[in-house]
Amino acid sequence: MKIFRHKFVEFVPECLEPDVLYVSLRFSLVSHQCACGCGEEVVTPLAPRDWQLIFNGETISLFPSIGNWSFQCRSHYWIDQNHAVRARDLRYRPDRKRPKDKDVAAPRWAVAKGGSITDRLLAKLKSMGRRHRSD
Ligand SMILES: [Zn+2]
Repeated sequence: MKIFRHKFVEFVPECLEPDVLYVSLRFSLVSHQCACGCGEEVVTPLAPRDWQLIFNGETISLFPSIGNWSFQCRSHYWIDQNHAVRARDLRYRPDRKRPKDKDVAAPRWAVAKGGSITDRLLAKLKSMGRRHRSD
């Protein structure tokens, strides 16, 4: 969809460059122009209940996904290693890094954003089965 550069800044500038993710640790937020190109400014606060930032030394990822429902474009995408990836792109599985061990709980964002009712029911049934076996 789009590749960003990132800049660590103290203050986010008035005019955003279209392909820059501005990271302000001082104000715990990331700001960028909507990845669809509409020019709207997207501000993602960094907090345990908002977004989380992963900086791997070279690129930036944000979790959970960014859904711009209040904009006309209504775009929905992930920022993954500086790449904006359309959320509806099925080739992209944001849970691909999840450990294979089924006993490890999925991250909160994956549970909240993904998984059909059937998946959740199955997970619930499995956890009930596990509890039963340990009795
Ligand atoms: Zn947009």
